[in-house]
Amino acid sequence: MKNNQENKEVRVRFAPSPTGSLHIGGARTALFNYLYARRNNGKLILRIEDTDKERSKKEYEDNIMRSLSWLGISWDEGPYRQSERESIYKEYIEKLLKEEKAYYCFCKKEELERMREEQRDRKEPPRYEGKCLSLSKEERERRIEEGKEFVLRLKIPKNEVIEFNDEIKGRVKFDAKDIGGDFVIARSDFSPLYNFVCAIDDFKMQISHVIRGEEHTSNTPRQIIIQKMIGAKTPHYAHISLILGRDKKKLSKRDAAVSLEDYKNEGYLSQAISNFIALLGWHPGGEREIYSLKEMEQLFSLKDCQKVGAIFDTKKLEYMNGQYIRKMNLDDLTKKCIPYLINDNLISQKKDEKEGSTDYKVSETGEDMDFEKLSSIVSLYQERMKKISEIKDIADDFFKENVLESKDILSWKDMSKENLIESLEKGIRVIESVEWEKSVLEEELIKEANTQKDRGRFLWPIRAALTGKKASASPFDVIWVLGRKTSLKRLRMAINALN
Ligand code: GLU
Repeated sequence: MKNNQENKEVRVRFAPSPTGSLHIGGARTALFNYLYARRNNGKLILRIEDTDKERSKKEYEDNIMRSLSWLGISWDEGPYRQSERESIYKEYIEKLLKEEKAYYCFCKKEELERMREEQRDRKEPPRYEGKCLSLSKEERERRIEEGKEFVLRLKIPKNEVIEFNDEIKGRVKFDAKDIGGDFVIARSDFSPLYNFVCAIDDFKMQISHVIRGEEHTSNTPRQIIIQKMIGAKTPHYAHISLILGRDKKKLSKRDAAVSLEDYKNEGYLSQAISNFIALLGWHPGGEREIYSLKEMEQLFSLKDCQKVGAIFDTKKLEYMNGQYIRKMNLDDLTKKCIPYLINDNLISQKKDEKEGSTDYKVSETGEDMDFEKLSSIVSLYQERMKKISEIKDIADDFFKENVLESKDILSWKDMSKENLIESLEKGIRVIESVEWEKSVLEEELIKEANTQKDRGRFLWPIRAALTGKKASASPFDVIWVLGRKTSLKRLRMAINALN
């Protein structure tokens, strides 16, 4: 295998543990690696770190890969699974044991506890000081034969100081004392632990840059020690700053626990999410905030990554999502809205006998509704939607038989019941007689509204009667999309409700 030292190619990896769905933090790590690989004509390797057999699940692995693909993150190699590479790790463990760089430790939990307590009393950092190092070969073999539980520890040279240059944080220095002393690399069955497999794999997979979350900074010195011991060159490291909530404290459980799939189901667009999470810790400068994935692939650099925590602001995410929704082609947006309308049982899909022709049926009224009509409804809200899922709440009135839950909504300022009825009747007359052309309809309604001292006296009751809502699209738009017949019916229903 080619050694890292001569290997100039950029090779980065995303190494999730499949113990949960892909969340914002993991997605950001994946994205930064992806962007770095693309920017530098390198390769992204997907490595599934499933050494924790109890917590690792296939469904999570599937979820992670699905979410990456949804975000537009493709990888060039893998997925490699650590569970399928055990013989490689075993080989290295045996080599380290043979070279006496690793050793058996039989210390029991209580014993380790006691040592730690003593260290605490002496105000020293908790660490393993190498008690079992002094065991003779015979003693060690006897204990193994007796079936005594053990772990394998790495023998760390005394006074070892580990320094590395973090591409984001700058110089980082660790004292071996502060990283737990002779740390454990494998259990009794030789099943290796995270730091060990990670270091071996980064070497074997010729990773040039390890880009990962700040929470892994303290693992880095351990991995560097392992790499040194197996004679591997260490990769470059870059630790991305933590994601913080709006209060600058750790991201709230609620936000941190939201999986990418949940965001997708909520009606966030993948482009908005990738844009948003890229800016959690990276910014190429200037005021601009909207970047396509392709643009980010051209611009990404670790130099533009910030050292301080990145603020996760849901309002900003919603704003960005709204920006992307506005840029969408109406047909595509309508296609994305339809599942929400179906899910809320506002419409159902109806398969025609004619092959391929698919139409919809309004659940409450039983009326047919075609794609064209649905997109004209969606078009009214494209400008104001922040999430696709909102469509079912902002436009539900288009799918109802009776939108007027209470006649109170019709009231405008001090208008009496008679005034309201008069406005509705005038509206009916305009709609009945007008030439059915949107601009003419609008013109005629405005003309009528202008005869009042306050336009709202005419327009509010009409709009409220048509939608049953305090806020909606303009009455002209609503009438136009509802059509003459339904609009007249709703205005008459409102008059009846008032009477
Ligand atoms: N498997 C680790 C995690 O999911 C990642 C380790 C790494 O990137 O080195 O947090």
